[in-house]
Amino acid sequence: MAEQLEQDQSHRRSVLRALLWLTLLFGFTFAGLNIYRGLYLLAAIEVAYALFSFSLLPIIPKTKHLDAWTIAFLVPFFCIMVFALVLPNTSFTVFAWIQTIPIISYLLLGQRGGLWMSCIFISAAIVAFNVRYITGENAMNALIVTNLAFSSLAVMLFSHIYERSRTRNEARLIELAGTDSLTGIANRMRMGEEFTRLRSQAERSAMALSLVVLDVDKFKHVNDQYGHETGDRALQHIAGKLSERLRGSDMVCRLGGEEFALLLLGADHQQAAKLADHLRQQVFATPLKLNGTELQISFSGGVATLSDDGDDLSTLLKVADQRMYEAKSSGRNRIVSAHNPVPESLVSS
Ligand code: GH3
Ligand code: MG
Ligand code: MG
Repeated sequence: MAEQLEQDQSHRRSVLRALLWLTLLFGFTFAGLNIYRGLYLLAAIEVAYALFSFSLLPIIPKTKHLDAWTIAFLVPFFCIMVFALVLPNTSFTVFAWIQTIPIISYLLLGQRGGLWMSCIFISAAIVAFNVRYITGENAMNALIVTNLAFSSLAVMLFSHIYERSRTRNEARLIELAGTDSLTGIANRMRMGEEFTRLRSQAERSAMALSLVVLDVDKFKHVNDQYGHETGDRALQHIAGKLSERLRGSDMVCRLGGEEFALLLLGADHQQAAKLADHLRQQVFATPLKLNGTELQISFSGGVATLSDDGDDLSTLLKVADQRMYEAKSSGRNRIVSAHNPVPESLVSS
């Protein structure tokens, strides 16, 4: 989801498109006014820039290099603003446009880019304003420059605070969207993303990648006998035990209901089956303590390995699921993999 959002950046694309249309409109309007006032160079720059904006309109909705295009657009855009400030015959009211620099920069480039752009161009604008409008020394001049600097700083500060809390909220929402609310471990959606990442890593470094599907045995009895709340506690207990035993490069997720999955990087069929069996024994040997009694939990699992059993997540899930059901039908509380099949004697007809 994080990657998808990063690629998508639809909010930034919309703002940039609005800015391109405005630049087109204002570019021609100001060029007309400046021709009337005899400022031909500025008018020519404005027309050229308006045409550049127009050429970007079809690119922005789909480009993968949004940040690069944004910078390519903003740097000359802000340069023109500062340039307009130093030209003779322009008005000091051009500074009103300078105040939009932090807002535009933070909206389009986020916290870091926004900070850089704002610092560079607001400082340049204040220097330009000094050069062009401040002559001699008097208290009024100092007041004007202080006013401009402080008001620009205030806009920059608000933009920075807003963008920082927006980014944090977005990160929090992404985290929540990928987390199972009952157990706090990853959910199925996050596993999909992790699988894509781990598969690339496995292919790059010629490592094995295995998927294990685990299903709690006779879980309906737990709910029926002890109540749904205890069932929930049992699921949290299992999630805790599974997470505790895994390495940093592995992942555990709750697929839904009483089903869990493990993604094990660097583990082939055999190693994954061994690890899953170890986890099975650990969970079985650590009963959930209830008031005055203990609830022993077992699960059955199936292993599927990248390349041997399939190349995409849905195929691997299907194969691991089939093996998990073989484990169920041969008595439960066991792990089945290609190298550790159900013994013939246990296969039910
Ligand atoms: P098997 O060994 O064949 O897997 O038997 P089972 O009873 O585990 O399988 P079944 O699919 O019949 O039942 C799964 C149960 O899991 C039924 C449902 O009430 C329970 N369950 C699913 N999600 C939750 C949950 O979030 N909390 C609780 N407490 N129970 C859940
Ligand atoms: Mg089930
Ligand atoms: Mg079950």
